[in-house]
Amino acid sequence: MACLLALDQGTTSSRAIVFDSGGDTLSSASQTFAQVYPRPGWVEHDPFELLRTQLIAAARALEGGIKPSAIGLANQRETTIVWDRATGQPVANAVVWQCRRTAPQCERLERAGLAGLIRSKTGLEIDPYFSATKIAWLLDNIDGARRRAEAGELLFGTVDSWLLWHLTAGTVHATDYTNAARTMLFNLDTLCWDEQLCGILGVPMAILPEVRPSGCFFGEAAGGLDFLGDAIKGVPIFGVAGDQQAALFGQACFAPGQVKCTYGTGCFLMMNTGARRVTSNQKLLTTIAWGLGGEVEYALEGSVFNAGSVIQWLREELRLIDRASECDTLAESVLDTGGVYMVPAFTGLGAPYWDASARGLIIGLTRGTSRAHLARAALESIAYQTDAFMDAMEQDAAIAAAELRADGGASVSDVLMQFQADISGKTVVRPRVVQTTAWGAACLAGLAAGVWSDRASLASLWRTETVFKPRMGDAERAHLREGWRLAVGRAMGWTK
Ligand code: ADP
Repeated sequence: MACLLALDQGTTSSRAIVFDSGGDTLSSASQTFAQVYPRPGWVEHDPFELLRTQLIAAARALEGGIKPSAIGLANQRETTIVWDRATGQPVANAVVWQCRRTAPQCERLERAGLAGLIRSKTGLEIDPYFSATKIAWLLDNIDGARRRAEAGELLFGTVDSWLLWHLTAGTVHATDYTNAARTMLFNLDTLCWDEQLCGILGVPMAILPEVRPSGCFFGEAAGGLDFLGDAIKGVPIFGVAGDQQAALFGQACFAPGQVKCTYGTGCFLMMNTGARRVTSNQKLLTTIAWGLGGEVEYALEGSVFNAGSVIQWLREELRLIDRASECDTLAESVLDTGGVYMVPAFTGLGAPYWDASARGLIIGLTRGTSRAHLARAALESIAYQTDAFMDAMEQDAAIAAAELRADGGASVSDVLMQFQADISGKTVVRPRVVQTTAWGAACLAGLAAGVWSDRASLASLWRTETVFKPRMGDAERAHLREGWRLAVGRAMGWTK
């Protein structure tokens, strides 16, 4: 039976999983690496640590002597690396997606009135999140980098390109549509790097990687790799995608209107909009879902800033619970929150509220409010925020989502999943394979390599673990949603 090696290079760890063609996990390994915080608001990774931890994870996953038929790669998105074409040495640490160092450059772009142009070409809002201003920052702040870039001596890549380049011993400098779409330099209409934007943002086009479909032949892994030796020598790399898009694919959200939600520290939502490139009226991002077989499909996406982090806050700051799972047990011990709402606007509110001056609140307290009510209100806050976001997505796309496919660390909470179903009036499905990012990378690679003939075969491998059906009546749902709306209204504008 064919098996596939999925590499999932994330923000806090590098994972490798071997899947068989039936979708079962044969082995897996992960390796964490250091987060570098040189100044407040700055976040970096050592590019060689990313490579090293990824190779170690792959070597461990392949310890049984398994030889995969193909390799798929999913990666933390937007994180920016610039390296020397001749030596493979990075000019500096990777500037991580979370890093806010280019906020002043982004403000300048805003003031220059470029938001509309950038949105219309790239589907993105101007933000330090995306790669373009990070590339320019490296070229302008590392001695000699701009001159060397213009002379063709340097290469830029997101983490996928960096890993690909090293896995292929410096022979392939490429990326895929999903990663390119997160740079703020890629034109969603022409599917090419945009010359005008590269000019405005100060990025020499010579350093940019070649952009390929997410499922296609990228190159063959080299021999003599650190930790792996010749274990994957000659194995073709057939799939590359940014982590959120890989998860959408891994959740088999192949049809327009299908939505996945990753409940992690924050919540990442993505809706497949098919061949239609939807422009949001509510500052959701338009992005490429994947490119396959000469065509691209689009998605709407965005994130709720605070989700699982609310549970961490209960544990670390309030010390209301000792473990995240205790939150579920407590919440299960009461039927409702007793009228309490928690709005975790720790860092302001994102879509659809967009209020940076909002701050968190707990409202509706009475003398009878208990720990259990607060635990429940915390879990429910994740569902309310996701619900409001879904509403915005549905309005923008003019599609009603039938169900929500859940994954991520907090999706293990049955209380959260059931309340999500109740408050959204939609079925919430938690799948059997929760490593949807890695599975998505394996699917993209396996599809391109011919392990599976079509998406229908993949859809049949996607299996549910638990289905949460809405049980709440319409009147109660409307009442609770109205309470949430009022609570959010009180939280908004707080620091103005
Ligand atoms: P990330 O990839 O963003 O680091 P994960 O997908 O690993 O996040 O999920 C971690 C988050 O899940 C944490 O914020 C944690 O609070 C939350 N979490 C873990 N277990 C539970 C649980 N049983 N109930 C609710 N939240 C949980």
